[in-house]
Order: sequence, then C-alpha cells, then structure tokens
Amino acid sequence: MTDIMQSITERDPVEKEFHQAVDEVINSVKPVLDRHPEYRQAAVLARITEPERVILFRVPWMDDEEQVHVNRGFRVEMNSAIGPYKGGLRFHPSVNLGIMKFLAFEQVFKNALTTLAMGGGKGGSDFNPKGKSDSEMMRFCQSFMAELYRHIGPNTDVPAGDIGVGAREIGFLFGMYKKLKNEFTGVLTGKSLNWGGSLIRPEATGYGSVYFAVEMLAVKRQTLKGKTCLVSGSGNVAQYTTEKIIELGGKVLTLSDSSGYIYDEEGIDSEKLASIQKLKNIQRGRISEYADEYPNAVYTEAEPSPDYNPLWNHKADCAFPSATENEINKKDAQNLVKNGVKLVSEGANMPSTAEAVDIFLDKKLLYAPGKAANAGGVAVSGLEMAQNSMRLNWPMEEVDNRLKIIMRSIHKTCLDAAEEYGQPGNYVIGANIAGFVKVVNAMLDQGLV
Ligand code: NDP
Repeated sequence: MTDIMQSITERDPVEKEFHQAVDEVINSVKPVLDRHPEYRQAAVLARITEPERVILFRVPWMDDEEQVHVNRGFRVEMNSAIGPYKGGLRFHPSVNLGIMKFLAFEQVFKNALTTLAMGGGKGGSDFNPKGKSDSEMMRFCQSFMAELYRHIGPNTDVPAGDIGVGAREIGFLFGMYKKLKNEFTGVLTGKSLNWGGSLIRPEATGYGSVYFAVEMLAVKRQTLKGKTCLVSGSGNVAQYTTEKIIELGGKVLTLSDSSGYIYDEEGIDSEKLASIQKLKNIQRGRISEYADEYPNAVYTEAEPSPDYNPLWNHKADCAFPSATENEINKKDAQNLVKNGVKLVSEGANMPSTAEAVDIFLDKKLLYAPGKAANAGGVAVSGLEMAQNSMRLNWPMEEVDNRLKIIMRSIHKTCLDAAEEYGQPGNYVIGANIAGFVKVVNAMLDQGLV
C-alpha cells in the first residue's frame, strides 16, 4: 500500500468507497508522478484527496402525520481548481460521508474530462424518498435548501440531481433557493425547460454512455446495431440509455430496481419503454409491474445478500450498469465474460468493484469507467450553465451535437493518455491520467491554496 493510501485509510477507516476510488486513481497516476517529480514535491496526491470543504448539517422535516424527522445533509466541495464545484445531490438511505467523498472525488476527474470549466463536488442526504408524498418531498427539499443555500451559488457551487433527486426535487430546491436569496440564477442544473433547464439534460447521462460505447465499438469497426444489451437500474440513466440503444438498433433485455430485475427476451421496445417511464416517473411504481403488463418477461426478485446478481448472468454483447456503485462484483464480471459480453459502459458511478475491473481489463473487454462514460450528464449541465449565463436556450439538435462532440473528445483524450503512458486501449488509466494532469496543473498554477 502506498504511504498516501495508508494515511487515508488510517485517518478515515470506514470510508470504503472513498478508499476504492482513490486507490484506483493512485495506481493509475503513478507513472505520471515518476515522470514529474515536481508533483511529488507539491504533495499533489495529499492535496487532491482532501476535500477543500465539507459541509454537514441537520435537516429537520415534518411528515404528513405531523411527525418530525431529522436527516443528515452533506455537501462535499472537493476541488475548485478548474471551475466552481459541480456535482449532483443524492437522496438515499445509504448516503454517508464516505459515499459523498467518493462521488465528489470521481466528479473532479469526470468534470475535467468534459473540457468545461467545472470543479468537483457532491452532496445529498440519507433521506429515503421512497413512499413519500409530494408534500413530504417538498418540505424535505425546502428544509435541505434552508441550510445549503448559504454555501452554493452560480459561481461557487452548482448542484444537480443524482439518485433520488430528479426534476421534481430540483424544482422544490430551486424554489427555496430563489426565495431565500431573492435572485433567479443558474444555481442548480437539471431544471425544468420552462424555467431555465436545457434540452437534452434529462437524456444526457444515458445518451452519453451509449455515445461512448459507439466510439469504443467504432475502434473495432463495429456498431450497436443488432447487439443485445443488459441494462441495470430503471431510473434516469437507465431509461435514456435504453432509449438510445433502441434508436441505434440494439436490443435491451433487462432493467432493474433495488427490489429485482426483469428479463425480456423479445427486447424492450419504444412502446414498452414509454410504459416503464410512466410507471417509474409518474406512478413511482416497481419494475416487477412490468412483468404483469408484459407476461413474456420474467421478473426475478433480488436476494437480500446476494453472492452475485443474476441480471449479469445472461447471454449478451454489451452491459450498461446504470443503477449504483459496486453492483458488479468479481463473480458478476466472470459471468459477463462467460456469457460473451465484449463491452461495458458505466452509466452509474463506480458500479464495478476493483476485482471486476481487473477481470474486464485482463480479458481485454471494451471497458469504459463511469468517470468517462457517464460524463455526458455533467457536460450538458455545463451547457445548461452556459445557456443560463447568456439567458438563451439552444435547440435540441445543438445540445445533442455538442454532447456527441464532447463524448467523442473524452474518448479520444482517454485513448491518447493511455497510449502516451504505454497502456493502449486502457480507458481506466487514460481517464484517470488525463483528468488528473489537467486538475493538478491548474492547482500548481494557483499556488498553495
Ligand atoms: P435514479 O434515482 O433515477 O435511479 C436509480 C436506479 O438505480 C433506480 O432504478 C434504483 O432502484 C436503482 N438503485 C439505486 N440504488 C440501488 C441499490 N443500492 N441496489 C439496486 N438498485 C439500486 O438515479 P440515476 O439514474 O440518476 O442514477 C443512477 C446512477 O448513475 C448512479 O450511480 C448515479 O450516481 C449515476 N449518475 C447519474 C447521473 C445523472 O445525470 N442522473 C450523472 C452521472 C452518473 P430503486 O428505485 O428501487 O431505488
């Protein structure tokens, strides 16, 4: 173990996901440090792994029965070397400081890869949105923003959505921010279209992950047409990943939520996807209901503590994990390889464990880590910020074209950096090195702050 890893694990021993994210980056950038002794002199690893600021706060709220509850709110402002902190808000019971730090750390590199001027941050709460009424959601969001508003701003820190935070929550959060600050600015992204949102923002993470897959396949002179795909999750990222795969002629066989997954041998077509979107976004139902509507599909309930996830144990060409972190373990990675999967594009953040990543690299899969493959979401958030500053709305084709160009550029940047450091085709090393060098050079330019 490196000295820096040892000191991080000793100081914050319970932050397992953060250790995992940092360890991967440190292993990737070792040759960069060997080539640049000035980076070691400037202790860049110790600096880049320590958040610039962590905000932790109480979020009291009242349910519909007038019972008071208290949740914990977080904002980790990780790095502002290349722009204002930028990164989503996650509302999920699993949220803790370690998860927030891992997500904020990943965000720093991801945002650097987009070529836009955005630093990295992440926030959220251990609040569980499942089963809450609209008014409970509103009261929670208002209470959350009643503290967070002091720390954010269009030139300081610009949050967005993530797990459990979609258009409805962004609306409630923005409304409270506007009331408290008495200003209408682009302080949040993922806003609705009629009050400052950008076309293609809801679609951007899923579309971007598929665009990245298209770029990887093009290197092998292949396309998505006719390819079978396993997709996990059924939220924002999974839905738009599915939409784009269908549009490009691929066939999506699976979708999931935390209760289980559906396998539809005939493929999820546009009509079936529309019904899932209604089920998930409006009725806020469970994916199991898909099998009631389409009896040819098979629903499998999730095990309480599974050794492996059966969703990843089907014959397919490609996998698009789009639910949550560490949803593909070593056994799942072995199953994917055994079942003929040749491409993995991560819509979720860090969905593969370190052991799973090793298997993908060892077996020479086309493997795109989340910080590259899912950067389309934050990239279009950056475009939303640009449109807000200019008080303009770009048409759909323009935003989509910019997204495609950005994903193509991230793909090339990763390949070039990997090639430069003698690891051709390794998107993990490429993404980590390219993001790291950009941020570290900016930090050094700005002195010891
Ligand atoms: P949503 O809340 O819209 O959907 C999340 C989906 O994943 C749901 O189907 C949810 O099921 C499932 N899920 C969540 N936690 C778990 C779990 N512990 N086990 C099994 N399934 C789970 O979130 P998003 O689609 O926005 O986010 C999905 C992933 O993509 C996350 O890793 C996020 O960080 C990442 N991401 C999102 C971006 C965005 O723009 N939204 C940008 C970049 C990355 P259930 O409803 O049962 O909880």
